[in-house]
Amino acid sequence: MKVRTRVAPSPTGDPHVGTAYVALMNYCFAKKHGGEFLLRIEDTDQQRSSAASEKVILEALRWLGLSWDEGPDVGGPHGPYRQSERTEIYREHVDRLIAGGHAFRCYCTAERLEQMRAEQRRRGERPRYDGHCLHLSAEEEAAERASGKPFVVRMKVPSEGVCVIDDLRRGPIEIEWATVDMQVLLKSDGMPTYHLANVVDDHLMGITHVMRGEEWISSAPKHKLLYEYFGWEMPALGHLPLLRNADRSKLSKRKNPTSILFYKRMGYLPEAMLNFLGLFGMSSAEGEEMATLDQLVSQFELDNISLGGPVFDVAKLNWLNGRYIRETMDPAALLGRVEAWALNRDYLLPITALAQTRIERLSDLGPLVSFFFSGTLNLPVERLRDNKLSELQQRQAYQLAMWQFDALPAWELPAIERVLRDTGDRIGAKFRDAVRAFYIAITGSPGSTPLFDSMALLGRDICRERLRQALQTLGGVTSSEADAWKALLKAEDEAEEG
Ligand code: GLU
Repeated sequence: MKVRTRVAPSPTGDPHVGTAYVALMNYCFAKKHGGEFLLRIEDTDQQRSSAASEKVILEALRWLGLSWDEGPDVGGPHGPYRQSERTEIYREHVDRLIAGGHAFRCYCTAERLEQMRAEQRRRGERPRYDGHCLHLSAEEEAAERASGKPFVVRMKVPSEGVCVIDDLRRGPIEIEWATVDMQVLLKSDGMPTYHLANVVDDHLMGITHVMRGEEWISSAPKHKLLYEYFGWEMPALGHLPLLRNADRSKLSKRKNPTSILFYKRMGYLPEAMLNFLGLFGMSSAEGEEMATLDQLVSQFELDNISLGGPVFDVAKLNWLNGRYIRETMDPAALLGRVEAWALNRDYLLPITALAQTRIERLSDLGPLVSFFFSGTLNLPVERLRDNKLSELQQRQAYQLAMWQFDALPAWELPAIERVLRDTGDRIGAKFRDAVRAFYIAITGSPGSTPLFDSMALLGRDICRERLRQALQTLGGVTSSEADAWKALLKAEDEAEEG
């Protein structure tokens, strides 16, 4: 049997380093066993998925040096590889489950479900579908259908006993069926949920081994049951520990940049980044830490992955990146990399245009635009506080802007300006004063090239990280502040929509 693995990102945001790590572990496993690795796009959540996100995810994985034998961009015999193009397949499969008595249509309204859950919570029970529509008689079901009411399709799930999942890395995991909900498989708009699409596709695409994030462990019983209902053999499952921050908390944007694009923009070399991620699957006893993709493959063992949680240690990444710069290239090759990174006409021309009205001599250029070539600025508190906002206003301004920037569909000049104006209003400051605080955090000085244009050129990732660092330097945000400020943003948005 040929080993076939896959990575199945959902295109709902920036390309996450965790996606690259999961992709690489699956790639190494497949190639080590002479198998195939494929990429599937899981875009069943139409609200949150976007073509733009899919594009940057694919580009980022390719930039790292990964490739796939089959996928939406390269095709293959098991396509389409984008779930939104496979809805007919899911519908047929759901019909099979209904016909076999393994799934049922559920006509419950959102209000009924909400009421049911509230009652369950009041009784101290875990919210779980109570099986109301499972127990409809044939006539009642027919009447509901004839009335044209919207429905979802749910899977039947036992309410007693224990499900045992044999995890490739963790051994048997026991999960009580009573904790597993009668999962919705098909939504009322006819789109499948992740669970149905994932199982159907893994089977039809011939996947033999699934290595995915540990957040999916609780879904494994549903998947196991679906394989049984269909009469298919389940691929071997392995749940990978999530990447962690240095303090062992789950890797999150709040503490560490998580977008691959940030690391690219910071001037990390793709081969160093890939090597760094690959070390999680390599035995530390090997000694040598620099490894090409082929070496990562040959040294890969699932057992090397620490279940305690691999730490995304930026200091180590820096060290490794430095070694690649020193040990793998001569100055001419390094210059080539620097040119490709930022010293090229495409990047320099708009910067020169912004600087033109602000310089008298060519030698004024360097100091004026150096922030375009830096990563983080690490400004001391005194520099950051050189503005008229109160300390509270300044922290709030950075936080509100970061949230709004994260939510922007595209990083474009008018949207950036809108967010900054809006932020100034929300913190009750003069626009001029708010802008100065942003000028400092983003460019390091209140008198740089025009702020909004500079931010547009710098890109979302660098701007976000500079704001995050500035916020940290000013003491960060307490969780009660975060809750209150978030509620404020939400309440006002709702009022606007309302
Ligand atoms: N679309 C899921 C994700 O993005 C894939 C999970 C899986 O590999 O089964 O995490």
